[in-house]
Amino acid sequence: MAPGAWFVRRITYPLLFPVLLGVRGREILRLHRHYRESQHWDPERMRQWQWQRVERLLTHAHTNSPFYRRRLESIGAEPGDIRGFEDFARIPPLTREELQAHLEELLDQSPNAVPHGIHFTSGSTGTPLRFGVDTARYTRVRAMLHRNQEWIGLAMGDRHAYLWAAFSERDIRKTLLHRIGHWAMNQLFHCVYDLTDEALAELNAQMIRHRSKLLTSFTSTLMTYADAVRRLDLPTPPFLGIISTGETLFPHQRELIEETFGCRVFDRYGNMEVGDIAHECEAHDGLHLNEERVYTEIQPDPELPGGLGDILVTDLDNMSMPFIRYVTGDLGRWHSDPTGCPCGRPLRRLADVQGRRYDIIRDRNGTAINGLVIEDIGSGAEGVAAFQCVQRSPEHLLFRIVPRPGFTAEQILANLRERSKISIGPDRFEFSVELVDAIAPSKSGKLRQIVSEISPAPRGDGLHSSSS
Ligand SMILES: [Zn+2]
Repeated sequence: MAPGAWFVRRITYPLLFPVLLGVRGREILRLHRHYRESQHWDPERMRQWQWQRVERLLTHAHTNSPFYRRRLESIGAEPGDIRGFEDFARIPPLTREELQAHLEELLDQSPNAVPHGIHFTSGSTGTPLRFGVDTARYTRVRAMLHRNQEWIGLAMGDRHAYLWAAFSERDIRKTLLHRIGHWAMNQLFHCVYDLTDEALAELNAQMIRHRSKLLTSFTSTLMTYADAVRRLDLPTPPFLGIISTGETLFPHQRELIEETFGCRVFDRYGNMEVGDIAHECEAHDGLHLNEERVYTEIQPDPELPGGLGDILVTDLDNMSMPFIRYVTGDLGRWHSDPTGCPCGRPLRRLADVQGRRYDIIRDRNGTAINGLVIEDIGSGAEGVAAFQCVQRSPEHLLFRIVPRPGFTAEQILANLRERSKISIGPDRFEFSVELVDAIAPSKSGKLRQIVSEISPAPRGDGLHSSSS
């Protein structure tokens, strides 16, 4: 029995969040009201807001994080010398390699530091990362999520479904908490390991019964789901819209998903490190930056066409672990008219983002495996500094691995097998490991972290090309 939208606003956030998560849910409601208003601020007011936050962040990072103290010293500056965004752009960007190597020095080390949790991701470039996240950032990310979903027509607390990936850590207490949490948020949350026709048909039926108004999932998962709906001629849930995230959304994918489900697709760009960065609105003409939370820069690359360049982000909220001019590993470009969206919101827009790309991996029975699960196996195995997974035959996955010091190929192979046994069950694939010095992202098309050399494009792609 779903609890209703009022329950989320009156009970879940104010009463359950403090008890279950130790998070002030009322603060999320307050911030949500704030973001609804600030999305209409004129660009000048937004720049002032961002600058105040950047100044506060710089002073804080200089005082409490040895890494940033050295970083400012390296350009002969103290926080007071950075007087505007032009000066700010002189601070050397924070790379993933630095984040990986200097976690302790990046964290707030003051005695009254805000408590934080350590999160984990492999991100878009195959380099596993650990980083700190505090509650203030968590509450702001949640509030912003609701603001972005309103652009699709989903009010806070409306029925929402996720087709997500699950990771191999299995903690019963956490699982139970998650279940209660999703129920209390009026959400259907499905972890999809194997994207079989049977599993997708069952999930589809559940979403119809749930009357889910919104679906959020990864682009490649949506493509597999859409393909199954078409082949099996399934009725579709009454979605108002679908959010595609985690991977690059190509125009032919958008078209196929929209045709299949009879609703619009909204592209969302973000990462684990700073949360959601940009989101498409109802005008579907670029992605609005969540400027109140993240200051975004693009460093145009002269070798790339059309102003495309590295996306750098500064998290204006996470004091426990400052991300200042962080190189996301994704490429993007500004919209030709960043503040002139027909929707009327002056939040600046990116024209597009080129993030990660997953090919679809299938086992010997032809069952598609969720790309995030493969990513979890590779980045979660001990001894892996960076990886790429290549499927060359239905039985076999090759992992190209940059090892951590002291790990041999045999040890890493054993760790990969162990990790995959937990995630997808034993004997699904043969594994092999090839140790390499580096996995270079290609400037033109980004690193392809999960590559299939055997699987034809999913049938969905074929449908598109035959109709166009
Ligand atoms: Zn807009």
